[in-house]
Amino acid sequence: MVFERQIHWIAKRMDELADSLFPGNGLSVEFHASEIFGGRGPWKSIKDSKARISVITKVLEILAESHESVQAFACAVHKPSFPGRDAMEMAFEDLCSRFDICLKRMHVEQSNSQRGLIILDKSTYETSLQKMALNFKSLGTQWGSINNLAEVPLFVDSRSSRIVQLADHIAYSVFRRYERGDTKYLDIILSKFDNREGVLHGLAHKQNKPARCMCPASMSRGSA
Ligand SMILES: [Zn+2]
Repeated sequence: MVFERQIHWIAKRMDELADSLFPGNGLSVEFHASEIFGGRGPWKSIKDSKARISVITKVLEILAESHESVQAFACAVHKPSFPGRDAMEMAFEDLCSRFDICLKRMHVEQSNSQRGLIILDKSTYETSLQKMALNFKSLGTQWGSINNLAEVPLFVDSRSSRIVQLADHIAYSVFRRYERGDTKYLDIILSKFDNREGVLHGLAHKQNKPARCMCPASMSRGSA
C-alpha cells in the first residue's frame, strides 16, 4: 500500500539499484525475484548466487527503509487445507478486504480519507484474477462490502512499474518463508506489514492443520 507521492521515491531507489548493477542499462532491467534467484534473463550475467540473493535483499531493504505510510499485505494459503477452492481467489479476497479495512481505519482514526486503487501484474491476467477484476463490484459486496476502493483492479505490465516489481519481491519473501522455510527475506520486511498491538493484520496465513503454527502471522494472532 503506497501513497501516490511515495511511488516516485521508491521507483527512484530501484532505478538507482538497477543502474549500479547494469551501468547505463538499468532502466530496462526488471526486478523479478524468482528470475534473479534462479539466474535467468539478464541475471544470467551475475554468476555468483550469493550476489544475486543480495540483489533481492537490497530491493527488500528499499521497502524496509521506505516512508512509514508504505505498508505490505500478503496472504499465504496452504492449498491442501482447502481442497476444491482456488487459492488465488482466497488470497485476493483476503487482501482486498484487508486493504479496505486499513483505509477505513485511516478515515475513522486519523480523519485521513483516501480511496484505494488495486494494481495487478498483467502476467496474472489469464488466471482467475481476470474474472474477479471484472466482477469486482458485485464480489466486493459479497465479501461484506468493499467501500474505499476507487476503481476495479487494473492490470499493468510489471516491466513498466517498479512498484509492481516491489510487490513481486514481497510475494517471493512470503513464498520462501512458507514453502521453503527460508525466513531471511521476510525478516527484512516483517515490520512493514500492517500491525497493531502485536497482531500482524497485514500478513495472513490460511491453513487448518491441527498443529499450532509458529509462523509470525499465526503466532501474533495466537498471543493476542
Ligand atoms: Zn502460520
